[in-house]
Amino acid sequence: QAKAIGFIGLGNMGFSMATNLAEKLPVNSSVHVFDIIPALVDDICAKYPDRVVACSGPKDVADRSDIIITMLPEGKHVKAVYMGTDGICSSDVGQKLLVDCSTIDTASFLEIKDHISKNFPRASFYDAPVSGGVIGAERGMIAFFLGCAEDNTKDIEELRQLFSLMGNKLIPCGGPSLGIAAKLSNNYLSGIIAIACSEAMDMGMKSGLDPRVLAQVYAAGNAQNTICDRFNPVPGVDPDAPSSNGYKKGFKVHLMKKDISLALDMAHRVGSTNVLGSVGLQIYKEASEDERCKDLDSRIVFRYLGGNEN
Ligand code: NAD
Repeated sequence: QAKAIGFIGLGNMGFSMATNLAEKLPVNSSVHVFDIIPALVDDICAKYPDRVVACSGPKDVADRSDIIITMLPEGKHVKAVYMGTDGICSSDVGQKLLVDCSTIDTASFLEIKDHISKNFPRASFYDAPVSGGVIGAERGMIAFFLGCAEDNTKDIEELRQLFSLMGNKLIPCGGPSLGIAAKLSNNYLSGIIAIACSEAMDMGMKSGLDPRVLAQVYAAGNAQNTICDRFNPVPGVDPDAPSSNGYKKGFKVHLMKKDISLALDMAHRVGSTNVLGSVGLQIYKEASEDERCKDLDSRIVFRYLGGNEN
């Protein structure tokens, strides 16, 4: 059945997610988009002139859509888009389904949820951060970690259908904000692995090993993992990895700094140890401020740590 979907935030991830919606939604459906960078809105509207509609702001998106997805950098952006002037909540979102797919702090998410519950008791608002990277988003192969109890079958089924147009996995994680907790735990692990992989690759390469051989060794041995396989920090190992493409179109290093920092806050709050995370945060913080690394894919830590890229 035809749907009107709103999409706010057309960055590295959001652009591809919205593109998949434009391509795969049923006939007569539409995608209503907004980003503060007009060129991104123009690009997607030019590609799908009959399907994608440019909106003037978050309220306009919400006015025209039944389901609204946000894919923004941080909690402060999501709060502004929902609760700011001309935000989503200045529209009547009555019984609408609202989903934030960004990776943000749980406090911001719960503050927005509280605001929505007070003003629109029949609207539903979920956290559903994603994993799979920009390549996964382009290929419709991302996982959604949904902050929703498994027995809420009606909303889960509706979201399962929608998410299946953009990804290939949906994991209900429990209640509100547990999707975010799952995602932060995941990114803590993948961020630390990227540092460990950079160091292990560097010592192997400086000992005379070909980086592609090293990647094969990890894949065959018990160090096998997705970062070394599909997002190897060393250029030339995987032609599709951001590292092989100038570290562009990936998961920006300041976003990894943000996620490790959020994960450490969470660890602190729940009384979990975080020895590696403290070192990792320092590395990502310095890399995100380093002129040779800033704004590039987070696996740029290989360069930051002095890896030999040739
Ligand atoms: P990005 O910086 O490439 O894109 C964010 C977009 O939001 C930009 O286009 C920006 O202009 C837009 N934006 C910012 N403020 C806005 C506002 N007030 N109104 C409308 N648009 C606004 O980031 P990304 O890589 O697409 O990541 C988005 C979120 O997804 C982040 O929370 C990130 O941690 C998470 N994430 C990223 C990846 C990845 O591999 N890139 C993977 C999984 C999750």
